[in-house]
Amino acid sequence: MILEKNKKAGESLGLKPEGACEESLPFTETGCILLPESHIYQGSLILVSQKYPVRFHLPEKRLGSVFPGQPELKMELESAGMLRELLWEIQGNQQKIVGVSGYRTGEEQTAIFQDSLRENGREFTEKYVAFPEHSEHQTGFAMDLAENRPDIDFIRPEFPYDGICRKFRERAADFGFIERYTKEKQKVTGIGTEPWHFRYVGSPHAALILEKGMALEEYTQWLKQFSWPDSVLSMNRKGTVIRIGYVKAQGALTEVKLPEELYHESSVLGKRRKNLKVSGNNVDGFVITVISGQEGV
Ligand SMILES: [Zn+2]
Repeated sequence: MILEKNKKAGESLGLKPEGACEESLPFTETGCILLPESHIYQGSLILVSQKYPVRFHLPEKRLGSVFPGQPELKMELESAGMLRELLWEIQGNQQKIVGVSGYRTGEEQTAIFQDSLRENGREFTEKYVAFPEHSEHQTGFAMDLAENRPDIDFIRPEFPYDGICRKFRERAADFGFIERYTKEKQKVTGIGTEPWHFRYVGSPHAALILEKGMALEEYTQWLKQFSWPDSVLSMNRKGTVIRIGYVKAQGALTEVKLPEELYHESSVLGKRRKNLKVSGNNVDGFVITVISGQEGV
């Protein structure tokens, strides 16, 4: 989940403010945050797949529209804001790229699955439609996109690798989005190639996933070597220092020690917290991301 964001540091990474904060996590006197077990299943880095079902259902108030002409297509608020920004950058007021399917309730996913079974058969459906409670569309972090043409296919929309769609792909990672089901990773994801399905994981994770050539399944596993706080992944991007670490959940409440500079001056705590992001991985723990300005946090 996101506590708040560092506007200054975040902007250079393509993070832009859009007011999607959720409730703050409690800080202890000793500068720790306490993460309830339920938070394993929340946040933009959750891995949802055939193996790991959706365990947390977003409340309506944390969903927002993305496309001016398609208010019914929703995403989780931060994802929606970032997708709007990305689309604005590449197409302004035009509607060359449109949305096809965003957030779905469990009932909607069930209906889509069953309709596809009837219309397309089992083999096709299991390749392109996730089982109910196993769809990224139920997390609010996924959007299917299409190039705006007549007769857009609902299950397999056209989103090619050239023209405006290429432009979108080139910028997607800077705004926190990955193409989730690529041809190369079919064996890892268990889902057919879906050039139209984009998943928000946030920055800098999308850029890292792209650079490393990983599927989200692989990235989730890979991050586990960077144990927080002792063996974090540390990098410098465009003058911004980023630290990423993994914490395995420890029962009902997991205590996570934060870097001293994130809490030691209580008067600036609000400001310091803007640098911190915490997301569950939907498997067994949490990913901590700290973004600091050049001058240090
Ligand atoms: Zn999709």
